Amino acid sequence: MKIQRLENYIEGRFILSETTSYRDVIDPATNHAISRVPLSLLSEVDSAVQIASRAFKEWRRVPVTNRVGYLFKLRNLLEQNIDDLARTITKECGKTYSESRAELERGLESIAEACGTPSLIQGYNNEDIAGDIDEHLFRQPLGVVAAITPFNFPGMIPLWFLPYAIACGNCFVLKPSERVPMTSSRLFELLHETGLPKGVAQLIHGDKQVVDALLDHPGIRAVSFVGSTPVAKYVYSRAAASGKRAQSNGGAKNAVVIMPDADFELTSKIVAESAFGCAGQRCLAASVAIAVGDAFPVFSEALADAASSRPVGYGLDDGVLMGPVISDQSKARIESLIEQGVAAGAELLVDGRGKKVQGYEDGHFVSPTVLLGGSPMAEAVRTEFFGPVLSLFRARSIREAIEQVNSSAFGNMASIFTQSGAAARQFRYQAEAGNIGVNIGVAAPMAPFPFSGWKESFFGDLHAQGRHAIEFYTETKVVVERWPTASN
Ligand code: NAD
Repeated sequence: MKIQRLENYIEGRFILSETTSYRDVIDPATNHAISRVPLSLLSEVDSAVQIASRAFKEWRRVPVTNRVGYLFKLRNLLEQNIDDLARTITKECGKTYSESRAELERGLESIAEACGTPSLIQGYNNEDIAGDIDEHLFRQPLGVVAAITPFNFPGMIPLWFLPYAIACGNCFVLKPSERVPMTSSRLFELLHETGLPKGVAQLIHGDKQVVDALLDHPGIRAVSFVGSTPVAKYVYSRAAASGKRAQSNGGAKNAVVIMPDADFELTSKIVAESAFGCAGQRCLAASVAIAVGDAFPVFSEALADAASSRPVGYGLDDGVLMGPVISDQSKARIESLIEQGVAAGAELLVDGRGKKVQGYEDGHFVSPTVLLGGSPMAEAVRTEFFGPVLSLFRARSIREAIEQVNSSAFGNMASIFTQSGAAARQFRYQAEAGNIGVNIGVAAPMAPFPFSGWKESFFGDLHAQGRHAIEFYTETKVVVERWPTASN
């Protein structure tokens, strides 16, 4: 079977890259190549940016109410094609069909929020701020902006950026993960159907070289990044070095605290879903659980049951609740981290290594795994697994649990499970993470709220989504006017 070569989308059309360098896109459940992605040339990056810069001159003049008209169309098209898109996500990323649909639903919410840009982008003013003087604040688009996205949410994460960027009057360049490029290609086919003017949005495939070219390009004003912490840090500093605005979302190691008054049956289900849903490949996945006092024996038993009974398999098959991890290397890394955890004194309460799924023997499967105890300071506990592994600890008090939460270098999410308002408030107040859950396993901010990672989970000032996105994608301009009142 001939495998499709993916194309870039530049100046309103799909074109084959002139590169000779392609990479296979692998279905993680079968380990088979399902398409080929170009590692585009630097000249193609330059051309995409130049075209976007030219298109910007006209696009910024299109009234914001008309600009969001394209987003309303995109939202409708996405909704009509959600089944097809969800299947594409499952094929290239491995997550289950319902997980793929769920991420697209979140993408639809982002588009809907960005449709509110006519109100969100409004400035403010003071009449008579001094004698005969009025002062106004306007928000103007930046110019050309770029987004670089990871493999784990191929549908949702590009939609954290594209709708807001173009609604604010910018032109946009997307460099999706080379491991899951097919979803973005499909997304741009739908964008094309909206009739969006040429050059407003470009798709350019590639890897580090394309990222570097975007970071250094003088025509790009701002960069949005989502990926692992080392790359997030690198992108942030390289973008800043060339004078760009940057928002750089990194990795995570999220802790959940279970208090003795929690509903253990429900909590164990919610925590298992958080830790093992999307095969643990979520930046908001729970990867450390801390049971306080008497919560420990009951919660650990309920959690072990939930972990060992989770059906693992091909994401398009009925009844499957967890798919494979993204690659062979990822599976090997996760299994080696599990071994390191055991070497550091943890007990394997549930061992998910060596998983084989019938009919998908070459797939990259790891079953849910629970590591019990050991040193909370061990490397394996502090490192992001990005796989279906939960480390379970016991704490004597909420204070001790919060200390452990705050000892992490990351600060993406922390959650507490309790029926006590006082415990919830103490946790909310003291936990050092930007997204806090109270009886919530995946505290993902909805589109009107910023996706507020802290510490090593985020580099920058303004986050993705909602009002932060509008601020990130606009420059403020303050105008002071004197119009003396005529004397007669
Ligand atoms: P990654 O860092 O490997 O890749 C992300 C993007 O950066 C890709 O487009 C890739 O092509 C590019 N890239 C990779 N290496 C690069 C390099 N050396 N120089 C320049 N560019 C490079 O991340 P991933 O494995 O695709 O995604 C998983 C990671 O993303 C996890 O750490 C996860 O926690 C994180 N993530 C964070 C959030 C968040 O909101 N904080 C959301 C989703 C995922």
